[in-house]
Amino acid sequence: MIIMKFGGTSVADATAMLRTISIVESKLAQKPVMVVSACAKVTDALYNVIKLAEECKQEEASDAIAALKARHMGIVDDINATLPAVNERKDRDVRAKINRIFATLEEHLGEGNMSECDKAVIISSGEYLSSTIIAYAMNMRGTKTHWVDARSMIITDEDYLKASPRMDILEVSAARVVKEAYAKYQTIITQGFISATEDGRPTLLGRGGSDYTASLIGMAIDADRIEIWTDVDGVRTADPRIVSNTKGLHKLSYEEATEMARFGAKVLHPLTLEPAQKKNIPVYVLNSMNPQNEGTAVLSRACVFDGIKTLSYKENIRVINIYSMKMINTVGFMEKVFKTFARHNVSVDLLSSSEASITVTVEASQNVDGAVKGLSTFADVTVDRDKAQISIIGKNIIGVRGLLASVFNAVIDSKIYMISQDTTYLNLSIVVDRPEMADVLKKLHQNLFEHGYFN
Ligand code: ASP
Ligand code: MG
Repeated sequence: MIIMKFGGTSVADATAMLRTISIVESKLAQKPVMVVSACAKVTDALYNVIKLAEECKQEEASDAIAALKARHMGIVDDINATLPAVNERKDRDVRAKINRIFATLEEHLGEGNMSECDKAVIISSGEYLSSTIIAYAMNMRGTKTHWVDARSMIITDEDYLKASPRMDILEVSAARVVKEAYAKYQTIITQGFISATEDGRPTLLGRGGSDYTASLIGMAIDADRIEIWTDVDGVRTADPRIVSNTKGLHKLSYEEATEMARFGAKVLHPLTLEPAQKKNIPVYVLNSMNPQNEGTAVLSRACVFDGIKTLSYKENIRVINIYSMKMINTVGFMEKVFKTFARHNVSVDLLSSSEASITVTVEASQNVDGAVKGLSTFADVTVDRDKAQISIIGKNIIGVRGLLASVFNAVIDSKIYMISQDTTYLNLSIVVDRPEMADVLKKLHQNLFEHGYFN
């Protein structure tokens, strides 16, 4: 069995869905389990519906819902137009199901503040809609496809919008559901991102969580491979939107790919590789717009050479400097600092320290006011805004001859606010002024990849 996960752009409209469907149909012999995202931008639109309702802008919220409904019904029309004949009853059924999904959405849409559980129901509509339409299209084309509710497989804790899966239950539930379905059908389709608590209350795995769903089900059913279908030719040496001359990467280790995702690359959700790695299942990043491209294989460390693979970045971060003379020759200062961050729910990325200070980076989207206030009760604190973090990622990068010379050469005209190398030698990160980020990335890419020193 294989897992085939398709992201939002691979199911954006009828054309993209039909392209995706033919990729799946070409692999039926491998028993695919499809995991799909919502159609492109639908999840954002649903978050916006919630925002409008919370601001009591009911009319605008209704308009936004009507536009979403029209878009999904329009996809059914477009799919029907490609079929030799439309089965009236099935067409009615799929439209009724779409209407039911919107009715549920509207039932849970309040005025003013809504509970996180209600929000999870509303946001999950996106994946329910896309998977329903694709299942309809596949069955109409003659591929016997079973639609499965992901909530029967992915059981989580009660952190409704960013839930953690219960691995103990998952292995049993997903394996059972998939096995039963395969007794009667040629393929299975389910939703990414969507989950439920053990007693059936809806939860979500966090933004971009469909990759994670794919990997979780892959682990549970011991899949032969997990395919993550997106709209780029696999993972590249840098973000092609910023750097020209990037190269595709054939292989990455689980650790390198996780590090990439954690340090800003958007290709994979950061938790995706963990379940796959547990069972040593290869993960392939592939392009549904260009299925011939071999993409990138994410494999165990032993299959991957040492050296630099890619550059990641976080475009908008803050640097928090925490300084205290008391830190010298005392114990427990670090604990106090990190307890303060934990109390205020602030997640810290990079860290460097000296005798009297600790410096950390945090994503700018986090609210750090409370943490800064707490830290200021026992230390001097400054926050530098508008910084960017660039990470050089690769297995055993400390073995790369001349690495620092190349890095420093690329930042010769820039201020560096922080340098940090992780202890597993997977990444070296620097922090620069945000307006300089693109330039530094380009120079680093030239020095590390284009001059041919290292690969
Ligand atoms: N549709 C969800 C999102 O946009 C999950 C996903 O696509 O992975 O975050
Ligand atoms: Mg994604």
